[in-house]
Amino acid sequence: MPIKGTDVAKKLPQRKGCKDCGFPTCFAFAMKLASGGATVDKCPYLSEEIRAELEDALAPPIKLVTVGSGEDALKIGNEEVIYRHEKTFAHAPGIAVLISDKEDDEGVEDKIAKMKELQFERVGLTLRADLFALKFQSGEKAKYEALVKKVCDAGDAGIILISEDLGALFAARDICAGRNPLLYPITKDNLEQAIPLIKQSPTPVGVKAESVEALIPLTSRLKEEGIEELVLDPGSGNFLEVLRDQTLIRRAALKQNFRPLGYPTIVFPCFLAGDGLEEILTASMCVIKFAGIIVLSDLKKDSLLPLLVQRLNIYTDPRMPLAIEQGVYEVGQPKDEAPVLVTSNWSLTYFLVSSATEESKVHAFVCVKDTEGLGVVTGWGAGKFSGDSVGAFIKKSGIEERVKHRKLVIPGKVARIRGELEEALPGWEIVVGPREAGELPGFLPALARSLTGG
Ligand code: SF4
Repeated sequence: MPIKGTDVAKKLPQRKGCKDCGFPTCFAFAMKLASGGATVDKCPYLSEEIRAELEDALAPPIKLVTVGSGEDALKIGNEEVIYRHEKTFAHAPGIAVLISDKEDDEGVEDKIAKMKELQFERVGLTLRADLFALKFQSGEKAKYEALVKKVCDAGDAGIILISEDLGALFAARDICAGRNPLLYPITKDNLEQAIPLIKQSPTPVGVKAESVEALIPLTSRLKEEGIEELVLDPGSGNFLEVLRDQTLIRRAALKQNFRPLGYPTIVFPCFLAGDGLEEILTASMCVIKFAGIIVLSDLKKDSLLPLLVQRLNIYTDPRMPLAIEQGVYEVGQPKDEAPVLVTSNWSLTYFLVSSATEESKVHAFVCVKDTEGLGVVTGWGAGKFSGDSVGAFIKKSGIEERVKHRKLVIPGKVARIRGELEEALPGWEIVVGPREAGELPGFLPALARSLTGG
């Protein structure tokens, strides 16, 4: 359980009238610390011992670990709940594709190409796999290093280096250290030898053991050495063991606040499953049941897309509708006689309207009003898509400077705002459009012709 604000307050110096942390009292600062809204370093009067104690107590129960670098860096961990309906899951698992250095050039090129090509647009987001998992299997270090270089040159996707041979593992790490690769596996047999090598150029580390319990001394030892960017593999041997072990780790971290297991995990459906279907079903279960990274044997469109959509659904905050930014969006290359439509900023609404407009082959402006992610009817009901507010938005949107006509299409389902909107937008004619976005292809061409006088 997270530490309470009152317990944090007991550790603070209680200097009356100090306020150096930016808060009026130590108690106010303690409350902010406990809620995650401030960091311990804001109080300069803590002893090293108390600071370390508080930092440890206030750390998230599952550590946030970053694999990769730059914009494509994958962040995993920092989860706060076991069930999505309790709050939300925070960091979606990374999907990796395995490449062995025993694969022929054609196979390697094919997987690299798929990583680039298999990207899917959905509600304004790009869904795709995240990482390459590069396995040393050939016994030829030069071959493995060539594979690592090739993948590094091919793009910015994150990298997992997999090698039982520490020499090959750390030589590969040195090739791509700037990409912050995940090194795997660190085990009880190579731990002591690996520690100084990890410390030379710290990157995240995948810790593997033959059970959940056996992970504990390994992560504890690494923590003693200040190595805490860890990803756990409890060595699960099949689908049911994965489910059991992932659940045990998540529960121990969140329910018992058991720090040695408070790290994200990695699962290898590619090694566990007997066939492609079993592999993707295992991966799908891992999306729901707590994996931080899921390694697949290949990327195939027909199984990757559903997996990515499932990941999006599970890791979308159920309390926050997907919304896009308020503004004027162009469909095609609209000119000053193009139709102007207005809709709400619920992503689904916007993408239905813009795709139907695209389908109509009419270049148009779609004005998207912020309704806090609500659809037009719900937005109207909540007072966020009223005639007044839509009118005020249109005035400040800049659309009046971009078109020479004054016709605005509103969704048919909120035809009732027409009168109010006409009052709010003097000089504009308000056209009631179809009730459903799917009817736009039949509606827009005639409107576009009337605007061009055609
Ligand atoms: S800086 Fe430290 S001592 Fe001063 S008010 Fe804040 S918590 Fe208290």
